Amino acid sequence: MIAKIKKRLKTFLLLRSLRARIFVLMLLVGIIPSLLMRFGIVDNYEQRAVQQRVTTVQNQLMILANHLDSNNYLTNYRSEEQTYRTSREVINAELEMLSNLYEGRVMIINSNFEVIKDTYGISEGKTIISEEVIKCFRGENISHYDREHGYIEMTTPIVSTSDSAASMDGTSGNGGEIRGVMLTSISNDSIVQTMEVLNRNALILETLMIVAILAVAGVLSIVLTKPFERVTQAINEVKAGYSNESISVPDYVETVHIVDAFNQMLGRMKALDDSRQEFVANVSHELKTPMTSIKVLADSLLAQENAPAELYREFMEDIVSEIDRENQIITDLLALVKMDKKVQDLNIVSLNINDLTELILKRLRPLARKKDVEVVFESVRPVIAEVDEVKMTLIMTNLVENAIKYNKEHGWVKVLLDADHQFFTFQVSDSGIGIPEESLAHIYERFYRVDKSHSREIGGTGLGLAITRNAVLMHRGSITVTSTEGQGSSFLVKIPLNYIAQ
Ligand code: ADP
Repeated sequence: MIAKIKKRLKTFLLLRSLRARIFVLMLLVGIIPSLLMRFGIVDNYEQRAVQQRVTTVQNQLMILANHLDSNNYLTNYRSEEQTYRTSREVINAELEMLSNLYEGRVMIINSNFEVIKDTYGISEGKTIISEEVIKCFRGENISHYDREHGYIEMTTPIVSTSDSAASMDGTSGNGGEIRGVMLTSISNDSIVQTMEVLNRNALILETLMIVAILAVAGVLSIVLTKPFERVTQAINEVKAGYSNESISVPDYVETVHIVDAFNQMLGRMKALDDSRQEFVANVSHELKTPMTSIKVLADSLLAQENAPAELYREFMEDIVSEIDRENQIITDLLALVKMDKKVQDLNIVSLNINDLTELILKRLRPLARKKDVEVVFESVRPVIAEVDEVKMTLIMTNLVENAIKYNKEHGWVKVLLDADHQFFTFQVSDSGIGIPEESLAHIYERFYRVDKSHSREIGGTGLGLAITRNAVLMHRGSITVTSTEGQGSSFLVKIPLNYIAQ
């Protein structure tokens, strides 16, 4: 149990399970956009808030700058005259208010780069020659946001609106001369605070979303993979033998494909089983036939009290021929069963096919002579091929023997050997009785005989061509036949010169 759980966990973690993949995918699809959205929104807020603040402060500073100019703050900042002092105090108060409001610091710098007012009061009288100030004197307004130190810095020009000054100097900004610069830095605390609140809220929302997505991903990964489990269960039921029917899981196109393939395999297995049963029935029947004959012969001998010796002899001869037939069937069956074994031990050797053919024909010539059939061998070129000698002998013997057996008186058999660079062909043609067209598709079946009684007479078992075809297929070759009833047949065997292992 624990081992099973461990194994499942391992496949799950390695993402080899479809369920795990769906789960992770759903999680990513749900979480990544929400994360991106949060960062996007917060970032966007920060930019917009800074920009807005700069614009607001800049506007107020502009108004203040006009005020400064109209009160000649820059020229009379040291004057002790009563009117100047009062207006200066008013402006200073405005400056204080502004810097308090925005938690910032405002410095007023004149054209000599001298700080004439600092709301912090530390830099008054000092000289500031910074890049921002110089740029502002040139008419370039600058605002700069320093997130790390938490402030926004900006410059505002103090422009003289008097016409004489503007026409005298070319460095005018908005049609007037820049007489001084206000260097302001304000805190971004309020922005940061709002961002923190935003972030916190987004985080809570995100956590809730993640929990929801986790739940949805979990449920979906289970629901979506359920049909595959149903397929496994259905197959297991067939395997265990509870059901013999073809299975059906129509949930997905994919499961339908899997189930179809399985059903086809099941069909093939059933067909195989049926053919095996039929084969066993055929074998029993074929083996029983000679036995029945022997029994009938023996019984009829026993039934006669004083049977003459000649009758004994005659019946005994019949019995011997039935035993021979039984023997032949068993020999052929053994040859076939051996070839049916899946791990065929083919003994592949390089063989001279011409020599082998000569040898086989020599062995079969007495049979041909007995039937008055002429056997001719023609070889287009010498053939050396990688084959199993025993199986090859079976193929050739069966074909030539059939050509002689199913021939007419004074007939002929022609064996033609040829090869190209890949295959060699072995063709056996005869002038025999031929095979009816409707039988051509069945001649390779076990125990199939076109004319049962005729074939029995000749001593056929109906297994020869089944054996031949098996042997040819084992060599990865092919066998084809053409035949005209009453005129003759021609079997063509094509086998690769070099044996192709699986
Ligand atoms: P058998 O042992 O009966 O010859 P085979 O499997 O070798 O069995 O052949 C199957 C049947 O095919 C034979 O019974 C015969 O009717 C037919 N057949 C095979 N070869 C020939 C041939 N050369 N000419 C005519 N009929 C043939």
